[in-house]
Amino acid sequence: MNAHILLVEDEVKLARFVELELISEGYRVSVAHDGMAGLTLAREAMPDIAILDWMLPGLSGLELCRRLRSTGTKIPVILLTARDEVGDRVAGLDAGADDYVVKPFSIEELLARVRAHLRRNQDGSDEVLFEDLRLNRRTREVYRGQRAIELTAKEFDLLDYLLTHPRQVFTREQILENVWGYDFMGDSNIIEVYVRYLRLKLEENQESRLIHTVRGVGYTLRQ
Ligand code: CA
Repeated sequence: MNAHILLVEDEVKLARFVELELISEGYRVSVAHDGMAGLTLAREAMPDIAILDWMLPGLSGLELCRRLRSTGTKIPVILLTARDEVGDRVAGLDAGADDYVVKPFSIEELLARVRAHLRRNQDGSDEVLFEDLRLNRRTREVYRGQRAIELTAKEFDLLDYLLTHPRQVFTREQILENVWGYDFMGDSNIIEVYVRYLRLKLEENQESRLIHTVRGVGYTLRQ
């Protein structure tokens, strides 16, 4: 059965646009335009995943997320946030959100996140696989074949991000935004440095390259 998505967004035009995109991807969608209606819908419709705008009339997306969690709802929650709310990421995590998409977002990015969370939820495991690479989000262990690989926290996050959408090409901006966060003030060359570290560790035994540079665009994880 197709996954059921709860979308709570008070900008009616945006909500309609996202709803149509989700429907065309084959999802069933329930839409609410304020927090209280969203909460009611969440309880009635039993969605598989929720996309909640942060700023909502009545009940904020954050509060809505908190209430869902307090009733034991374990579905993935993606928060839509305006750029200036990004500093409050921690508040969102505390409320039990799994992910953020920063407005304005590309619909492809949102769809990719939805797919990734649904996939993660489906296998019920915290493990992500690609070729001979295995990453566990709960234990933060990484293996290439039988070989355990020690990664720093940021290296892990970067690899996890690339692994979420194999073969998709990410721009440096997307990577910075999603792995380092908007509050990161440093040089975007940091990504090159981290990719180099990751490659050294992933290819230590002359294994094939998995993280590829797409000239002039960014990086991708593929065979
Ligand atoms: Ca809003």
